[in-house]
Amino acid sequence: VLDFEDTGSGDEAVDLARRHLIQPWPTAGAIGAEARGLIGEGDGIYITDGKGRRLIDGPAGMWCINVGHRREELARAMYDQAMQLSYNTPWYTMNEPSAMLAQRLAAHAPGDLSHVFYTTGGSTAVETALRFMQFYNNARGQPEKKLILSRGGAYHGSTYLSASLNGRPRDRDWMDGADGLVVKLTAPNPFRRPAGMSVEAFCDFLVDEFRDAVRGIGAEKIGAFIAEPVQASGGVIVPPENYLKRVRELCRANDLLFISDEVVTAFGRLGHVFASGDVFGIEPDMITFAKGVTSGYFPLGGLMVSERLLEDLRRSNHPDAMFAHGLTYSSHPVGCAVALKNLDLLEGGILDHARKIAPYFQARLKTLEELPLVGEVRGMGLMACVECVADRESNDPLQLDRQVGSRIDAHCHELGLLVRPLINMCVMSPPLIITKDEIDDMVTILREGISRTMEDLRREGVWRG
Ligand code: PLP
Repeated sequence: VLDFEDTGSGDEAVDLARRHLIQPWPTAGAIGAEARGLIGEGDGIYITDGKGRRLIDGPAGMWCINVGHRREELARAMYDQAMQLSYNTPWYTMNEPSAMLAQRLAAHAPGDLSHVFYTTGGSTAVETALRFMQFYNNARGQPEKKLILSRGGAYHGSTYLSASLNGRPRDRDWMDGADGLVVKLTAPNPFRRPAGMSVEAFCDFLVDEFRDAVRGIGAEKIGAFIAEPVQASGGVIVPPENYLKRVRELCRANDLLFISDEVVTAFGRLGHVFASGDVFGIEPDMITFAKGVTSGYFPLGGLMVSERLLEDLRRSNHPDAMFAHGLTYSSHPVGCAVALKNLDLLEGGILDHARKIAPYFQARLKTLEELPLVGEVRGMGLMACVECVADRESNDPLQLDRQVGSRIDAHCHELGLLVRPLINMCVMSPPLIITKDEIDDMVTILREGISRTMEDLRREGVWRG
């Protein structure tokens, strides 16, 4: 959390925020009384802070500004649509952009994921997927089949049920959840696998654990498994090779719905519109998406659903059973119009660029492993994580690690880069339009930020690396 006590041009906003704003994820001690780093402008891969400093937007907002800031085409699409039709009720009317977008998304989705249900963001997309699973199993006469398998390290949202799936440290320390509905499995994090175990053996362990859980609980009680193909907020955890395919097969064999949460990985972050099929070779039953679908210009999310599931419902013994679920802003015409234009930009060269530049992005960041504070740099496509460890031998996340991300962020901010600090990790997921030179700038700043942090820690006598 950046706290600019003395922000020049932003003083009034800072003051107003302290008096009237509740920020997301506040702590009790600061709730309703904090200001965060003021951002005034965005342009391309850059943002400008309240002091007028230009920074590379390292996390692309929250993994969402995929085509970059200040794209006139997107602004115009929103304006044009708002002037034509700003809203219509999706309860008993429809609009053209939502249908056109649905068709284009279906064309990119793997397998028979032919239909879209639009939401307002990622949490509501995940919530919709889970409620759909419940409805589906009620309608086909299996009301006991409702448990959800999730994993350590996962992040799926901030609504009650989606948040109940979250498995990152601290997410649930002070929050309630629908614990009776969720079973958590081990995070598929090769970096934290048991000492002495190969990655292949770790993958076997994860698959065996999954199989054992299904056997132990009974497939007749489990409705779905949900997974981010690459765990994003958990620290860009790329699972072992073939892990997703093997678990997908287990889901199919046991009649569990596989929900692929692509809120981060879709819309070019891994070089494709959806990563499940094109990158991981799997056909989920549902895919949730948000963020990059509008490059963050409008709050929109959604759920791709398999034709097979819809057929099952249409043929069930309960044709009058109602999926009593919908949002005022489902199928929002302005959101769908901007998503259509965003898709034009992605298909018109940005996806190709993201695929081409990704190896350079990963290779340049990987050089940071030379620094003794860095335990691992990992990633895929245009998402990466620099994980710092106090003790490289044991990869031990010691107490010291907890502030390391914020310390690096503070130094990088001075140097011109916004970092997303996550405890001891720095996540990098810039706009997909980033060039090689800009990647060089980003890595140079990050290297300097980490080096300065190491000096600080040595000077304070808390680290001897
Ligand atoms: N799923 C994943 C994988 C996410 O990373 C996020 C947000 O970061 C969400 C769901 C929740 O999305 P939102 O914040 O748009 O509700």
